[in-house]
Amino acid sequence: MLTLPPFQYHRPTSVAEAVALLGEHGGKAKLIAGGTDLVPNMKHRLHTPEHVIGLRDVAELHRVGSRDGALTIGAMVTLADLARDERVSAIFPSLTKAASQIAGPQLREMGTVGGNLALDTRCVYYNQTYFWRKALGYCLKKDGTVCHVVKGGQKCVAAASNDTAPVLIALGATVRLVSPRGAREVPLDQFYVADGVKNTVLEPDELLTEVRVLLPQGRLVNGYQKLRIRASIDYPSLTVAVAAWLEKDGSAQWIRMVLSALGSRPHPVKRIEHLFGKPIDAAAIEELGQAAFKQCHPLTNINVDPGWRRQMIPVFVRRAWAQALAIRS
Ligand SMILES: Cc1cc2nc3c(=O)[nH]c(=O)nc-3n(C[C@H](O)[C@H](O)[C@H](O)COP(=O)(O)OP(=O)(O)OC[C@H]3O[C@@H](n4cnc5c(N)ncnc54)[C@H](O)[C@@H]3O)c2cc1C
Ligand code: SF4
Repeated sequence: MLTLPPFQYHRPTSVAEAVALLGEHGGKAKLIAGGTDLVPNMKHRLHTPEHVIGLRDVAELHRVGSRDGALTIGAMVTLADLARDERVSAIFPSLTKAASQIAGPQLREMGTVGGNLALDTRCVYYNQTYFWRKALGYCLKKDGTVCHVVKGGQKCVAAASNDTAPVLIALGATVRLVSPRGAREVPLDQFYVADGVKNTVLEPDELLTEVRVLLPQGRLVNGYQKLRIRASIDYPSLTVAVAAWLEKDGSAQWIRMVLSALGSRPHPVKRIEHLFGKPIDAAAIEELGQAAFKQCHPLTNINVDPGWRRQMIPVFVRRAWAQALAIRS
């Protein structure tokens, strides 16, 4: 049986109290939301915090609402509640789809939006027991000095595997981060960095309190596709999130497309601006698929053949756009 390492548990009831605890214990503390990722990782000795700060009793983090023309989602909103929320599905069906496909039903009742966005990266050589990792000689993400995915590599390339991240980036979301030094608003596409050891800009004493997504005044289309081995419960092997703003004549004012579950941060597909101002027709979708294919190179960081994952990129781009355009057409 895998046991938890010892730790002191704290149960704040407000953001101010949680942030004060983070300030006091800093790098020796971990926040816990639903615990669906942190608890197994602690049992694997991937994280051994001296202090664990539970967010369950912080009521102000549990709300979905709207403010200043934006949808606001509290960090402690569960994935199941997000997936059931009709205000969300009416405007952002891609977010509903992503939330409803994370893990399995029990995990979605426990897992939260904040925990999903701050999810640790995953790798077949990292998400293992201490005994397994020790037998291999560890790796540079935890306890070791080498990477087993990129031989001779100096940088960890463990996969960003959080389903809501690519969708929320495609929708132009921002996150609010609060620490003893104050609060800051960070666009989600700047929240992630290309380092699998720690792939976010979150400081050890920062709490993610809420996600904000601007409510569209016009015609926003959005879609999400997830490749996974078991449809009932599985991490993504590839995800494609798409969003576009359509003018009355059907041309796209802007287009965003974000792929994830490949490298250590979600990848917004670049150099697609020449398609702005035109309709998203079959030829445009083919071009978008090819752009994504050229820019994305799956690795052996997860146990699914990288060549096959790459071949699936244009297929999933096509499906994501078909879903996005059918929903609003
Ligand atoms: C079998 C299985 C399958 C899974 N499948 C998927 C999947 O398909 N897709 C997917 O995306 N995930 C998957 N997960 C991972 C996990 O269940 C979800 O990502 C979930 O949303 C994590 O949220 P949580 O509240 O449980 O996070 P926790 O485990 O509580 O925390 C995760 C991390 O986030 C940090 N954190 C939590 N809240 C905050 C906050 N407010 N501010 C700053 N840091 C914070 C914690 O310190 C920790 O480092 C799976 C897990 C399991 C066990
Ligand atoms: S990508 Fe390399 S360094 Fe990172 S977890 Fe995997 S084996 Fe370790």
